Amino acid sequence: MWSIFNQLKAIFAPPCLLCGSLDGNLDNYCQGCYDDLPHNVYCCQICAIPFHQAFGTQLICGVCLRQPPKFNQSLVALHYLPPISGLVHAFKDNNDQAAGRLLSACLLAYIEAQKPALPDVLIPMPLHRQRLLSRGFNQAEVMAKRLGKALGIPCHNDLCQRQIDTPSQQGLNKQQRQRNLSNAFVVNQTITKFRHIAIIDDVITTGASVNLLSQALRQASPQPLCIEAWCVARTLPPQSKLHLY
Ligand SMILES: [Zn+2]
Ligand SMILES: [Zn+2]
Repeated sequence: MWSIFNQLKAIFAPPCLLCGSLDGNLDNYCQGCYDDLPHNVYCCQICAIPFHQAFGTQLICGVCLRQPPKFNQSLVALHYLPPISGLVHAFKDNNDQAAGRLLSACLLAYIEAQKPALPDVLIPMPLHRQRLLSRGFNQAEVMAKRLGKALGIPCHNDLCQRQIDTPSQQGLNKQQRQRNLSNAFVVNQTITKFRHIAIIDDVITTGASVNLLSQALRQASPQPLCIEAWCVARTLPPQSKLHLY
């Protein structure tokens, strides 16, 4: 009986993308490889910047204490380290949908483990039109749709647009950059139906984009909003030694 089951599984389930074993699930990874991923366990509750283990949990970093961001909290599954960085690159730049499935599944597993109060809506981080045209898809939208389907939450990708592409900021000084970024996102309509929003993105680096989008969403809502960022991975700060562990 088990051997028939295993044979069928080997036929229908793809091999693990990370080790090639046939123990992979339908989301392209095996349990052993999942356990070995750089999970973001100890981090700031608001911006999810990783802490060293010794700092414990349920803490807020100094940056967020000094200047609280426009979003309430972040749920970030992993550190942006190999093999996650390679999978993100494969998904975004080489349209590797298997890598995208694996990354979405990791974020979903993290969200389900955290058991947060579920938001009313998922909003994928918008891509600038030019970038969308050159890439052909918005990776955040692909992930948001998967999460929305699994969790039973609607996904809106037409509520807001990105007007400024971040790399187009290169060559501007800090003042020009900030002025430019203040109009980075535009929300198309007054937000009346939603009070609790999760912004979905693949990688959070400084949190600047999430912050700007959160600000634009708040400005478009007559009511206070609870805004979360749900991201697959966070880059480590330059001084972090977590990559050594
Ligand atoms: Zn594996
Ligand atoms: Zn923080």
